[in-house]
Amino acid sequence: MPKQGIHPKYDTIHVKCACGNKFETRSTHKGDLVVEICAACHPFFTGKQKLVDTAGRVERFRRKIAGSDAGKAAAKTDAAKAAAK
Ligand SMILES: [Zn+2]
Repeated sequence: MPKQGIHPKYDTIHVKCACGNKFETRSTHKGDLVVEICAACHPFFTGKQKLVDTAGRVERFRRKIAGSDAGKAAAKTDAAKAAAK
């Protein structure tokens, strides 16, 4: 038996994933958890080589770099490549 009073509370918590999946687990974490990837949507388990982007983070990042010099240079390179075709 574990010693009384020296262990953190180990309770059932609810985990909510960005893909919409919800499950219960046991953790010393207090309260519920929100995760971005879980066993239901991770490419390793789904077998799909698809980036999970339900939270729109990739889109937000693209918009952010579009205004920077690096983003403009990348856009120019893409345009040049497209024109060369
Ligand atoms: Zn998920």
